[in-house]
Amino acid sequence: RPAVEVLSADKVFANGTRGLAPLSLTVEQGDFLSLIGPSGCGKSTLLSLMANLQQPTDGRVLWWRGGFDGVGGDGRRLSFVFQDATLMPWARIDANVRLPLDLAGVPRAAASARVAEALALVGLSSHARHHPRQLSGGMKMRASIARALVTEPDMLLMDEPFGALDEITRNRLDADLAALWWRRRFTTVFVTHSIYEAVFLSTRIVVMAANPGRIVREIAIPEPQPRG
Ligand code: ADP
Ligand code: ADP
Repeated sequence: RPAVEVLSADKVFANGTRGLAPLSLTVEQGDFLSLIGPSGCGKSTLLSLMANLQQPTDGRVLWWRGGFDGVGGDGRRLSFVFQDATLMPWARIDANVRLPLDLAGVPRAAASARVAEALALVGLSSHARHHPRQLSGGMKMRASIARALVTEPDMLLMDEPFGALDEITRNRLDADLAALWWRRRFTTVFVTHSIYEAVFLSTRIVVMAANPGRIVREIAIPEPQPRG
C-alpha cells in the first residue's frame, strides 16, 4: 500500500521560477526510493513536498495513515536526515538522539531503551556519552540517522545525507544503511547525485531532469533472490 502519493503536483516559487512541472509519484510502504538527477532538477523541492515542508502550487500530496487523510509532516510520522547532521553541540550523543522522544513526551526509561537500540543499530553504542565534537563526520551522520529512526517513523526522508563525507566513509555508510534497511524495511526517500548510491541502495530509482524539474524515468530494481 502507498506511503505517500504525489498527484499532479507542481511548484512555482514566489520569484516566478518553476521548480517542478506537474508530476505524479507514489512511494509504496517499504520502498527505498532514490531521486537522482542534475543540480536544479527539483529533487529537494519534490522531497520537501513529500515532507510537507512546502506546499505544491497546484496538485496534491496525500499521506497514508490507515487511510488517506491529507496530513503529513507532524514530526513523528516523518523523519529527516540532511547533509549537515545538525546535532546540538552542547549535548551528548545519547541526548541528541533522545531529543525527538523528549519532545514527544516519551517517559525517560522507555526513551532510554529506544535510544540505546537506535545507537546500536547505527554502531554508535560506545559513543553514547561523547559530544558531537568528539565524533568524526561519518559518526555524526550515524547519530543523525539514529535520531531519525528512534521515533520509528513511517517514512525516512534523506537529502544527500552523505554528500559531505569522504568517499571511503561514504561507501561504508552506504553499506551500513543498506544492511539496516534490509533488516527494518523503513520506507525511505533518498536524494542523491550519485548513480552508484542510487543503484546500490534502492528498490526504485526516479530519474529527474531540469528546466523545468520533471521525472524522465522510473526504474525498479528487482530484489535479489535468497541464495541456497
Ligand atoms: P535540486 O535539489 O535537484 O538541486 P531544487 O529542488 O533545489 O533542485 O531546485 C529546483 C529549481 O527550483 C532550481 O531551478 C532552483 O534554482 C529553484 N528553486 C529552489 N528553491 C527555490 C526558491 N525557494 N525560490 C526560487 N527558486 C527556487
Ligand atoms: P540543494 O538542493 O543541493 O540542497 P539548495 O537548497 O542550496 O541546494 O539550492 C538549490 C538551488 O536552488 C540552488 O541553485 C539555489 O541557488 C536555488 N535556490 C535556493 N533557494 C533559492 C531562493 N530563495 N531563490 C532562488 N533560488 C534559490
